Amino acid sequence: MTNSKNVMPSETLNRDLLEKRKDSVRHAGCGAKKEITCDTQSVAGAVSQRACVYCGARVVLNPITDAFHIVHGPIGCASYTWDIRGSLSSGDDLYRNSFSTDMKETDIVFGGEKKLTEAIDEVMKVHAPKVIFIYSTCIVGVIGDDVDAVCRSAEQKYGNRVISVKAPGFAGHKAVGYRMACDALMSLMLPHYNSETIKHGINLLGDYNLAGEFWLVKGYLARIGVELITGVTGDSSYESLIRAPQAELNIVQCAGSSHYLANRMEEEMQIPSLNVSFYGLEDTKASLLRIAHALKSPDILAKAKKLIGEEEARVKPFVDKIRSNLSGKKAAIYVGGGFKAISLIRQFKELGMETVVVGTQTGKKADYEVIESLVSDGTVILDDTNPAELERFMKEKGADILVGGVKERPLAYKLGIAFCDHNHERKHPLAGYDGVLNFASEINASLNSPIWDYVG
Ligand code: SF4
Repeated sequence: MTNSKNVMPSETLNRDLLEKRKDSVRHAGCGAKKEITCDTQSVAGAVSQRACVYCGARVVLNPITDAFHIVHGPIGCASYTWDIRGSLSSGDDLYRNSFSTDMKETDIVFGGEKKLTEAIDEVMKVHAPKVIFIYSTCIVGVIGDDVDAVCRSAEQKYGNRVISVKAPGFAGHKAVGYRMACDALMSLMLPHYNSETIKHGINLLGDYNLAGEFWLVKGYLARIGVELITGVTGDSSYESLIRAPQAELNIVQCAGSSHYLANRMEEEMQIPSLNVSFYGLEDTKASLLRIAHALKSPDILAKAKKLIGEEEARVKPFVDKIRSNLSGKKAAIYVGGGFKAISLIRQFKELGMETVVVGTQTGKKADYEVIESLVSDGTVILDDTNPAELERFMKEKGADILVGGVKERPLAYKLGIAFCDHNHERKHPLAGYDGVLNFASEINASLNSPIWDYVG
């Protein structure tokens, strides 16, 4: 689909963007040899929609249901990302609390280590969790508290895990926080790795059990005879995570947040990994078959084919019915990582829709190459965009609906464009076959709502 002679070069189409943003906006089929600029620091003053390093670390670790999270910094950081995400638990709900050392001016002048030690003592006295994560935020990065030493001394005192996550917001962007969370998880799991253990079962990395999505996937795996050891980190616990090193395979749903962890587990625990996506009919089918092939079991493969046949027979008639309402409509996508954007492009095709604008906060070059291979010439591809660019390109391309997160919703509504929330705040599953039904229903209801007749 690329290299059409009908698409003007990106330099011409991007001429009125901020100079430093021009190489992060690409027009599919423009024929430019230069790759899109991505995975770099945001341009100062460009009003990036990306979250900070601390947020990236917190969203990965927060769904561990029996963990405690102490945010070492001013109270505002603790409120950021606290319990606004839809990760569900089948057990403990300690993770829904948020604790902070609530640093004030005097702590900043004289140091906050004493206050942090007291906070850990209090948490251990009242709750005694098996693992505490200590997040150091911006101001702690500036004053240089020795948080690692405080954590070491607390572990010696109490015999539990107290893991330092040095995540000052200014240390990069959200993806740096993902890596810090993955390092924290390795610190939790590695002491329980034994190279002599016979490997069995699989882990699902990069799934956060939003609205119960992990349970849906777990159900599919149970039906095809695959043992799921733990989600990392959806609906996980200290006990399930320390069993993760036993797995014979890691499947990775959100590669953006968990690819680094999968690589470390492969190198240090000899667990191979497989990227999957359970969004949309095509990707769910491909993922189940790839898992079966990776486990080299004819029985699992036969069961996977049976499951796919049964579920598609249940879901496809509804999708076919909805398609007539959506055919020819245009979609814009702005999501966190590349894997989700790729699945969404395919899902819109399944619904008879075309993607005209697509972007991610933390996509990699390989993700953007796949994206460009899937979309039509002229589709606008954006890395780390901002509301001004999104507005301009959605208007230019005539998008009928925007799929994004909480930060994009007001923009869509201000422009009189339908919106679908595909971020961590939503309350209904969009993964698996039930997710296909929910997604088709929501896109149809939002796009064809009578409200748009009253918007000028
Ligand atoms: S870590 Fe820094 S950027 Fe992130 S919420 Fe706290 S103050 Fe803001």
